[in-house]
Amino acid sequence: MDTLLKTHNKLEFLHPLRGFSEKVGNSNPSRLQELRFGLKKPNPKWGRTACVKVSSSALLELVPETKKENLDFELPLYDPSKGLVVDLAVVGGGPAGLAVAQQVSDAGLSVCLIDPSPKVIWPNNYGVWVDEFEAMDLLDCLDTTWSGAVVFIDEKSKKDLGRPYGRVNRKQLKSKVMQKCISNGVKFHQAKVIKVIHEEAKSLLICNDGVTIQATVVLDATGFSRCHVQYDEPYNPGYQVAYGILAEVDEHPFDVDKMVFMDWRDSHLNNNKEIKERNSRIPTFLYAMPFSSNRIFLEETSLVARPGLAMKDIQERMVARLRHLGINVKSIEEDEHCVIPMGGPLPVLPQRVVGIGGTAGMVHPSTGYMVARTLAAAPIVANSIVQYLGSNGSLSGHELSAEVWKDLWPIQRRRQREFFCFGMDILLKLDLQGTRRFFDAFFDLEPHYWHGFLSSRLFLPELILFGLSLFSHASNTCRVEIMAKGTLPLAKMINNLIQDRD
Ligand SMILES: Cc1cc2nc3c(=O)[nH]c(=O)nc-3n(C[C@H](O)[C@H](O)[C@H](O)COP(=O)(O)OP(=O)(O)OC[C@H]3O[C@@H](n4cnc5c(N)ncnc54)[C@H](O)[C@@H]3O)c2cc1C
Repeated sequence: MDTLLKTHNKLEFLHPLRGFSEKVGNSNPSRLQELRFGLKKPNPKWGRTACVKVSSSALLELVPETKKENLDFELPLYDPSKGLVVDLAVVGGGPAGLAVAQQVSDAGLSVCLIDPSPKVIWPNNYGVWVDEFEAMDLLDCLDTTWSGAVVFIDEKSKKDLGRPYGRVNRKQLKSKVMQKCISNGVKFHQAKVIKVIHEEAKSLLICNDGVTIQATVVLDATGFSRCHVQYDEPYNPGYQVAYGILAEVDEHPFDVDKMVFMDWRDSHLNNNKEIKERNSRIPTFLYAMPFSSNRIFLEETSLVARPGLAMKDIQERMVARLRHLGINVKSIEEDEHCVIPMGGPLPVLPQRVVGIGGTAGMVHPSTGYMVARTLAAAPIVANSIVQYLGSNGSLSGHELSAEVWKDLWPIQRRRQREFFCFGMDILLKLDLQGTRRFFDAFFDLEPHYWHGFLSSRLFLPELILFGLSLFSHASNTCRVEIMAKGTLPLAKMINNLIQDRD
């Protein structure tokens, strides 16, 4: 399995136990050759007629070699020979970095964005609630929307969530932001920043190609690799681990108007005691986006665990589930290895390098979502940089960075995150039955509460009402469980809230 995972593509794989990005290369070229030839052929080992033994290798054989698609843009390149000091250097061209680059350059400031592959279309399959993108006027950047979502609590109980959900059109979103960057004069440099040296009023960014870029402000937007932002506490997040495939199938049992937000059913494991037992301790659910009757994105997901679940375990569970659902995979367009660190400490606040996105602790600690929250925070970071650095600003160095961090992580956001970490600490302790009871109560809440919780719109006073409301909707067993498993995390949260002052 390991060989297969390493062979089928080159991917930035974030080790669940170590929490940093690691390049996984092709270790076996002849195996790769075999896979290339086997790409589009339906695999006789896979599907309803497959043998009973749960093995994910047949599924993985359908995974094509990753082809990274580039945007068709001529990028204006940074010219190191000029020795200019740019106002802002953005390290990392994911959604977070690119959005800030665009908005700072909108205000006429000079920006250089450094990324090893600035033109490559983002690899992750992003899902968002439609109202989140509507609020940012980004509906044109969704390629598919579903009128609602469903949650299967167990074999007998299903919730219909009347909240539209969408899949982000990564190409459109990146093109749109990139185009604005280009017309605003943002310069690009294709490299990795390996070191940042700070002087009083400027910083030097040393790249792996030997180039040095000088900037007044440095923004670390390197995602979960957290390259340049400093942490002073042990990094101990939970991990969301998931394996997803965008597949052509013979048929699937889901309604194409609804996406499947969570399917916690486990009857697919009835014939496999060992996996069923593992799943009842640390459960995984299916997340699915049905695009048509025979094209679907399927992702087996561990919501949060510490340490994170092994990818192989997740893939085995997925194979068993798809077989049980009668989903016969004919071909795979792309696959996704998802490892998201959740919760854990915030970076040192403030510090000279400014951060946004994965590197700055912005992932939702109870859900693993982040893209909508980051895009909504980009104008806050950008305005702050423009305000303190622009023509009216007189700040530089540490003073400037401190103001930007304050705007990104004001006390109410830090308290909100503390509450979400409390949620994560409870979820970490729940087994399958406990998780089912939790979500049964959660999705029975007033939409204002569950929408607000998932989309980071509730702040502390309302979050307490949310907690009380959840408790009142919960079954007696669930209440006892929340009290038993939530008391220590609650005490930890209260302690952290008391200690964290402006
Ligand atoms: C597989 C997966 C699926 C996800 N799905 C969702 C979802 O459905 N919904 C949601 O809300 N969130 C989702 N997330 C969580 C989160 O939204 C994404 O991880 C998001 O891409 C983070 O954005 P970012 O800009 O912070 O970092 P990234 O998108 O990771 O971008 C970081 C960039 O920095 C570059 N970089 C790294 N190191 C350096 C360096 N030293 N120098 C220069 N450049 C560097 C990288 O090459 C990359 O281009 C998902 C995460 C993963 C991993």
